[in-house]
Amino acid sequence: MLLIILMGFTVADFAGNGLMNKQISKSESSTVDQEKQVFNNDYYEDSKAENKESIELIYELSVDDKIYYFESEDEIEQVLTKVVELSTENTKDIEVTIDGENVNIDFEAIPTLSAEIVERNFVMAGPNPTYTRNNEIVNDVSYEPSEVLAKLDFNEKVIVESVVKDSQNISNVTNVVEELLRLNSEPAEYTIESGDSASLIAEKNEMSLLELYELNPWLEKREKTLQIGEKLVVEKLIPELSIVNCYKATEINSIPPEVVYQEDNTIYSGLTVIAEEGEEGKELLKMDVDIVNDEIVNESIMESLVVTEPVSQLVLIGTAPVPEDGPAGFFVTPLNYYRLTSSYGPRWGKTHRGLDMAVSSGTTVKASDGGQVIFAGWDNAYGYRVDIDHGNGITTRYAHNSKLLVEYGEVVGQGETIAKSGNTGNSTGPHLHFEVIVDGNAVNPYDYIG
Ligand SMILES: [Zn+2]
Repeated sequence: MLLIILMGFTVADFAGNGLMNKQISKSESSTVDQEKQVFNNDYYEDSKAENKESIELIYELSVDDKIYYFESEDEIEQVLTKVVELSTENTKDIEVTIDGENVNIDFEAIPTLSAEIVERNFVMAGPNPTYTRNNEIVNDVSYEPSEVLAKLDFNEKVIVESVVKDSQNISNVTNVVEELLRLNSEPAEYTIESGDSASLIAEKNEMSLLELYELNPWLEKREKTLQIGEKLVVEKLIPELSIVNCYKATEINSIPPEVVYQEDNTIYSGLTVIAEEGEEGKELLKMDVDIVNDEIVNESIMESLVVTEPVSQLVLIGTAPVPEDGPAGFFVTPLNYYRLTSSYGPRWGKTHRGLDMAVSSGTTVKASDGGQVIFAGWDNAYGYRVDIDHGNGITTRYAHNSKLLVEYGEVVGQGETIAKSGNTGNSTGPHLHFEVIVDGNAVNPYDYIG
């Protein structure tokens, strides 16, 4: 934030033309520093009446609570432009906004400061924001994501005003620039992210591990049990006067499809069917992103434009009553509870045809769907086995049972008890081996029982 109070001088005056040859008039600007301004004006008016020649003005630059005096406003311009130049990259031709007005700073006119300061500030700059920096403001709608540095601003309250020369100490441009760029260590909050360790957090914040421990005495003991989202105190190096980098960002965002539910009496109750997949839409977001000292301090969506409308997803909800016998058309887990000990797929160089669901012997085994029993009996490796045909080429198989409760040819309903589980046949512990067979091929049961 930069405010200029120069007794009626506008920002443009500060930027382009010299002050000294301007007429001084009463300020019309309403600013935060009314009291001071009034004092200055009064002083001037009073003095003018007595002796116009005796008035000598100097220029006061205040940055938050720090105050510096200069002989000319030109020197203040040098200070501020040098701070901008040393705090950011590619500032040439970038418009600096002062009190809402654009000011073109002539960087060529700035005297070269000592190499020592330049070096220090390269260190200060640290890792740069990942935004690209061009010198243009994007006004047209672009479909490409982009980040454009639109303007710079000061993060601290900067006020420039003329005051009557008295016994103030006059500052030197180089010294003030150096002072304004001096780094102060300030405590900051750090939120633990996935993959963080104490040493990584220290590294990320350019601190030593010891310094991190000193700020967080509990950390050393709890280092192994850090939780994502926990807060730590870290140190951040902040210059006296920071630059706000204001970016115009364009981002493409996906819009999730709306889900429309519709009841359907041709589908059994308990079943939902996705009838139409739906499609994500796309929207273009134009955002203002402000970055201070490599940290995003503000992110606002300024404009959004739907590029592609999302297509709704249609989900049918079954309402038809489930038949007591015969297939319901969907499958349920044959056990109320179990522990999966082997999933479908490759095992020991072969394909495991089903799921091994560990349960204690004698547990109720239910028909995954209604259908006709096409096998119920002893089958060597499978032990006591039941197969149920559900129509549409789908069969389910239940093996290693201790007791069978259905017979060949019987029609069963979904969820009906067909056997008691066991450990018969080629089995290394009590479990149900459950298969879903489609057109003669065993498939992954989880594609059916969910
Ligand atoms: Zn098995």
